[in-house]
Amino acid sequence: MNDVNPELERMVAQQIAGRGITDSRVIEAMRVVPRQRFVDQDVVEDAYSDAALPMMQGQTISQPYIVAQMAQAAAIQPTDRVLEIGAGSGYGAAVLGRLAARVWTMERVPQLARRAGVIVAELGLSNITVLRGDGSLGWAPAAPFDAIIVTAAAPEAPDSLRRQLAVGGRLIIPIGLKEGPQRLVRILRKDAMNFEQEDLGSVAFVPLIGEQGFKTA
Ligand code: SAH
Repeated sequence: MNDVNPELERMVAQQIAGRGITDSRVIEAMRVVPRQRFVDQDVVEDAYSDAALPMMQGQTISQPYIVAQMAQAAAIQPTDRVLEIGAGSGYGAAVLGRLAARVWTMERVPQLARRAGVIVAELGLSNITVLRGDGSLGWAPAAPFDAIIVTAAAPEAPDSLRRQLAVGGRLIIPIGLKEGPQRLVRILRKDAMNFEQEDLGSVAFVPLIGEQGFKTA
């Protein structure tokens, strides 16, 4: 995607490979997506720091490690169709786009959706579609998905997202309070009726605001 960047190489070595991310495809995806293109220009010196960064509209671009952790937990295959909820900067979608065949990413804040769409287009990431809308309802026109990754915390896993998973599909979602303890969970669709849920640890995300999320910001 662009030339080797020593800061990016250091980020991957220290924060990704050095911290238990073992999936070689995820590590490679993290190496090639230029995070500095997605962060706000006033925090660009921090593009490769080990932190979530503020964006416009009070939202955040996720910490690199958490992007890698979610991608690894979703076990994305090269033929997969993936839905991301919470496009934000578009960075997470760009990483997912290196791993999957096709990515749809939804964002409720119009300015963010527009900005993410522009960056994705500038970088020529043609397998990613940025959609503006309430992702708590998923995106039925492109369902079913092999993986759904939610980058905002919900009170519980929305039914619409469970229903849009293919059999064998994985839903990765932070569940918990709006501004309080949250757990990252992986929900595997075993068959039409049965889901298996696994806890992946404690996390801190902005709230999922929508019909099947929290009702107000
Ligand atoms: N994946 C992003 C991180 C985004 S933070 C990145 O890599 O930069 C979470 C995002 O979820 C915010 O931009 C927020 O506006 C968005 N969001 C919250 N509720 C949403 C909803 N119901 N549908 C779509 N996006 C939502």
